[in-house]
Amino acid sequence: REGLPDRFVVIGGGISGLSSAFYLLWEAHLRGRAAVVTLVDPSERLGGKINTLKRDGFVIEKGPDSFLARKTPIIDLARDLGIAHELVGTNPAAKKTYILHKGKLHAMPPGLVLGIPTEIAPFAKSSLLSWGGKLRAFMDFLKPASKDTDDESLGDFLTRRLGPEVMERVAEPLLAGIYAGDLRKLSLQATFPQFKEAERKHGSLIRGMRANKRKAGAVPSAGPSSLPAAVRSSVFMTFRGGLATMIDALNEALVDVDRRLGVKAVAFRQNDPMTDGEDVAPYEVLLSSGEVLDADGIVITAPAFDAADLLEPHINVDALRAVQYVSVANVVMAFDKKNFGIDFDGSGFVVPRSEGTTITACTWTSAKWLHSSPSNKVLLRCYVGRSGDEEVVDLPDDQLTEAVRKDIRDVMGITATPLFTEITRLHKSMPQYPVGHLQETAKLRTKLRSEMPGVWVTGAAFDGVGLPDCIRQGKEAAVGVYKSLFG
Ligand code: FAD
Repeated sequence: REGLPDRFVVIGGGISGLSSAFYLLWEAHLRGRAAVVTLVDPSERLGGKINTLKRDGFVIEKGPDSFLARKTPIIDLARDLGIAHELVGTNPAAKKTYILHKGKLHAMPPGLVLGIPTEIAPFAKSSLLSWGGKLRAFMDFLKPASKDTDDESLGDFLTRRLGPEVMERVAEPLLAGIYAGDLRKLSLQATFPQFKEAERKHGSLIRGMRANKRKAGAVPSAGPSSLPAAVRSSVFMTFRGGLATMIDALNEALVDVDRRLGVKAVAFRQNDPMTDGEDVAPYEVLLSSGEVLDADGIVITAPAFDAADLLEPHINVDALRAVQYVSVANVVMAFDKKNFGIDFDGSGFVVPRSEGTTITACTWTSAKWLHSSPSNKVLLRCYVGRSGDEEVVDLPDDQLTEAVRKDIRDVMGITATPLFTEITRLHKSMPQYPVGHLQETAKLRTKLRSEMPGVWVTGAAFDGVGLPDCIRQGKEAAVGVYKSLFG
């Protein structure tokens, strides 16, 4: 096809698909080639899980609400899109996080990094753990590192290093929040490989995480230097107008991308120029509308179960079927400050499974994110649903709201009536990377590369669920597809 543009179909209009489309055009530009990209998504709305609602002066996130600022791909993309000046950090006055234990909120000891203690004194003083639990955690300094390099579950690893109490009361509610998962089923290598690396390098998880923290402290913030210091030093960031700012900016930057919204990719076919003729495209993507799109390359960014349906006729998809998804919901409630009766001194709390509440966490959104609410209002976001406890997601609205209100009344004494409530259900939305996930998906990709050059499968189901990880994976997909087609 000398002189004609490269044709790409991107399946999925979430952040992974939009980033793939953006970086496909970028890569084409770098290579001095022309490209035509068509983006397909069954929803009429771009963004996938990212979904910001603006209501009555509030900025409400119905999906993800922020991202880890030390992961640079999202900051780089924000810069490229010209929206980096819109970045905001968390309220520095709301640094404290709480953990529910026996019905009471306990402040998380300072120095916890991803649930791992890196400061000894505050951890030793914490009211969250028994003396036995603390001593068991400190055994981490003495226990030799495991020589086994095979993957294991995150829960087994943490229990091995720090003991069951730290695992269940601290690490599990904090880390499980990211995956809504069961730590005993999640792959260590695919979720927190830095833990294993800390053990391997330093012979102790605590020592290793302390060293990582020192190193991270020495690295300058990735945020643009024009941003205020408080924003640049924030661990989490978002945009003043919510995460949809990024989707809107991508949407604008991708004006030349063809869109097929409200339409699903239902299958694709691989053609053989030897038997099907020279003029036929290497691939044809069939849409639910009946349209067929010619393609030189395809990037599939749909969740693992949808990607598996598309790939199954062509390749073994066991690695994709092995990724189970958990359903979750969140209940956002807005209040008038004058009737609320409570001042928050932190950003919210997480709940260990053993507490038996309906909610798994509660973010004090108006305290944590000052841009999210008018100053005379309060915004709370309560999370429900986790691995093994998903039925609650489908309770009728009134029962779900009542269960959540009971929990916040019991835990925080909140009795005020909300001005409004927004419920968002995200069915099968949280991928659970099983033990051995990275090895199995690498095999799948190697096979794809050799048997179907130009077809790439990526997104949150693969190598990181965080927004920066999805953007990085979109970029890797674009580079990978071009490489597999043209070297
Ligand atoms: P998606 O956003 O799921 O997009 C995939 C798209 O594929 C969808 O739009 C879907 O319609 C489309 N699709 C499916 N089948 C087809 C088909 N056959 N043809 C065409 N299109 C198809 N991450 C953070 O970094 N910070 C957070 O605060 C955070 N909080 C979260 C809170 C919740 C409740 C959830 C669910 C996730 C959260 N995450 C967070 C994770 C993050 O939001 C996701 O990992 C990320 O948005 C996934 O992006 P994606 O593009 O890979 O997938």
